[in-house]
Amino acid sequence: MRSGKWGFSEKYYQNSLNTLNTSLSSIPAYQKWKPYDPGPEYDVDTRFQSLPVLYKKQIRENFPEGLIPPGRDVNQALENGEISLAHTSGSSDISATNIWNQQWWDASERGSWKLNSFAHKIATGTHHEAILANPLNVGISSDNGYLSMDERRLSRFLFLNEKTDPSQWTDKHMDRMIEELEIFRPVVLEANPSFLARLSRYAIKHDKKVYQPGLIVFTYEYPTRFHYRQISQVFNSPTASSYGSTETGYVFMQCEEGKFHQNTDFCRVDIQPLKREYGDSETGRIIITTFNNPWYYMLRFDIRDLARIDSSGKCACGRNSGLILSAIEGRVISLTLTCDGKPVTLRTLDDAMGVLTDIDEYRLDQIDSTRYILTLVSQNPAKEKLAADAKDILHTVYGEKAEISVKYAEALSPEDSGKYSIARAVFPVNVEDFLDEDYLVRVS
Ligand SMILES: [Zn+2]
Repeated sequence: MRSGKWGFSEKYYQNSLNTLNTSLSSIPAYQKWKPYDPGPEYDVDTRFQSLPVLYKKQIRENFPEGLIPPGRDVNQALENGEISLAHTSGSSDISATNIWNQQWWDASERGSWKLNSFAHKIATGTHHEAILANPLNVGISSDNGYLSMDERRLSRFLFLNEKTDPSQWTDKHMDRMIEELEIFRPVVLEANPSFLARLSRYAIKHDKKVYQPGLIVFTYEYPTRFHYRQISQVFNSPTASSYGSTETGYVFMQCEEGKFHQNTDFCRVDIQPLKREYGDSETGRIIITTFNNPWYYMLRFDIRDLARIDSSGKCACGRNSGLILSAIEGRVISLTLTCDGKPVTLRTLDDAMGVLTDIDEYRLDQIDSTRYILTLVSQNPAKEKLAADAKDILHTVYGEKAEISVKYAEALSPEDSGKYSIARAVFPVNVEDFLDEDYLVRVS
């Protein structure tokens, strides 16, 4: 039995080893990686760390046969419904098609419920769940006209929204969402945080009482401090962030104490830390290997997000197997740079911005190495004071040389990926320039 602060079980190492061996011996996409494997005389962690990472563009190049064990008939499985195809889209992200295995997905989701006491208690797998998300990501889209409640039902789920841009939601549409929550009485409300924050701002403004689900689960996006603040004025339900992706299933779940625990029966996670010169060795890139999905082998997949390891290795909830994160740091695409060229994660920016009040929404666009545009949505009439306060905060984060302009907007809209951009550099930023070289394997 191995020890160490993450308390990984023997089964975890066995799953890691089996996935590594199967991938290198028989999955076509990984055949080129064989020379990087130091071999079975090395421990499994060293072997994983010696391998390159799988990028989304390689999924596209190898899809589908290159990611499936030989002898499995994709077309037959698609025909008999064992698997289906799941598309992710949007020019702000890399579009890709994935193999969707509902059975494995459901099992992965059930695994994640164990990591939060509220979910564990109330989620049965047959419970009512309302989903407030962008229909571009999940649900049924209808930007021309509205769909009836029946048309937005799918087994135990109700999709509360069929419109792709929350800035266009009408009062009537939001009244309907509030009414349907009351009728449907979901045990769990799964929400894109920016969407639920939009509904919450409406409920606050019009003093609407809203049905309280047993648990609110955030997915799809990073929940900002403003999202939390707005949502908590309307909902007193507990909240938990669920972290994963179409490619990887459920990877981390936030427990009732606020930390993130790894779904160890379904995935391996490796973290590639930032270089020491950035003074933050706890933060790094998340690399995911899925376990036991017979139809899709994700070996060291770059999910394009950053996380912060909780180096104490402990959580007050008592869960003690698997990596513990103190925070998800945000998407790699949301990385911005200080005037000195140091990386700033979305969490760092958002924690700083969070001291402001009266902000509905914000977005930061970095134009070049020293110029930044902050767009604010606020009902506060003292706009100049708010802009000056925001500039002070950004100077602290990005440096005194930062040239910051602040503009106001009536509302912000999501990207064509269906998700909001809260921060981004408009020029290319390669996260690998900031990662510790000891953890990077460059493919020649
Ligand atoms: Zn915990």
